Amino acid sequence: MALWIKSPLAILAEDAGNGIVIADNRIVELVPAGQDAVTPYDATFDAGAHVVLPGLINTHHHFYQTLTRAYRPALDKALFDWLKALYPIWGRIDPDAFRLATRLAMTELLLSGCTTAVDHHYVFPAGLENAIDIQMEEAARLGLRVVLCRGSMDLSIEDGGLPPKAVTQDIDTVLADCERLVARWHRRGVGAMTQVALAPCSPFSVSAELMRQSAAMADRLDVRLHTHLAETEDENVYCLERIGARPLDYLTELGWLTGRAWFAHGVHFTDDEMQRLGAVGAGVAHCPTSNMIIGSGVCQPMRMEALGVGVGLAVDGAAAQDSSNLVQEVRQAFLLQRATRGIGAVSHRDPIRWATEGSARCIGRPDLGRIAPGRQADLALFRLDELRFSGYDDPIAALVICGAHRADRIMVGGKWIVTDGAVDGLDVGALRRAHQSAAHRVQTGS
Ligand code: ZN
Repeated sequence: MALWIKSPLAILAEDAGNGIVIADNRIVELVPAGQDAVTPYDATFDAGAHVVLPGLINTHHHFYQTLTRAYRPALDKALFDWLKALYPIWGRIDPDAFRLATRLAMTELLLSGCTTAVDHHYVFPAGLENAIDIQMEEAARLGLRVVLCRGSMDLSIEDGGLPPKAVTQDIDTVLADCERLVARWHRRGVGAMTQVALAPCSPFSVSAELMRQSAAMADRLDVRLHTHLAETEDENVYCLERIGARPLDYLTELGWLTGRAWFAHGVHFTDDEMQRLGAVGAGVAHCPTSNMIIGSGVCQPMRMEALGVGVGLAVDGAAAQDSSNLVQEVRQAFLLQRATRGIGAVSHRDPIRWATEGSARCIGRPDLGRIAPGRQADLALFRLDELRFSGYDDPIAALVICGAHRADRIMVGGKWIVTDGAVDGLDVGALRRAHQSAAHRVQTGS
């Protein structure tokens, strides 16, 4: 089956004024303005009301945290105190609540233009050992493309770390499960719908040995590596006091300065550190709203890109930013750079690039992130017939500057999975009610 998505209101691709042709799961032709498709097609979709973007890619999230949004005891706290307030609550999450949290976060992402979602799950209390398997099942059910990071924590309070013992696991358990998950779920090559990355949580919750062995295993299994790094000044102080090195120097010693790694946040890298990351082609998941809410600081995405670092965009966990809306995050990234670095710092196109091509680079997926022949047919279509857009001139700038917040249609791998602003086959109201009730149970412990 070939589908011609024709006459778009606007499209983020060169020479595709009259749309694109999709065959199976790929884009096969860009149709210039005023011309007809050359590829034989079976059906057409009139995109005259739509702005067509490559599907957005979210490079860092913690789906389970939707269960602790705007949680009173964690409000107004800096990262370390925020985490200490939340770890015991997260330790209560059961498989049913976790499944609902995953489904809800994935749905939020889809409806905001996301076609590939990364999650970083690192809390494995007793009973939740199969968390990543649950996420894989939910992704398949929705048709969302995923890279699921098998997170881990083994450095509890008694070992000098931040988390309580109940949410940590020992190294052997973690590594055995990483190996199991890669064998079960990691698909390779063009069009892969499910991938697994190895992702010890952070320098202050993971031992040096687990960091080192995770990097070695990622090399051996040829999968990607992910962790939180350079998020706050407190992290720098912790690493200098307890380890005697800055976070990136510490991880470099442990085998993490590699092109297969991408780091969440990267707010506090020095220029020299950015150069070292750029030299190996590592990536950074920029999380502007999370950084603003926790008061972590301001990332330098343009400087990093200039030095060769891959810059992707991410909403981060819902307890740190309290929303999983990726197209809104594009606007947040734009506003944060303008507010702190001036009018010339970025154009509206820069954060769109981070959320598409840059994010694809972070996760090592050259088959995603652009509307071009041969790439996967992952698309996000937005309508502009809302009050907030009325009066626009440039349709693509309008998405960012007027504040698009909801996609009208989503295609993943050539299949429509969102139509008319709704996820096909999903009762969103019922999901919200079940999730709110699960969140109450987790927060109150009853
Ligand atoms: Zn995070």
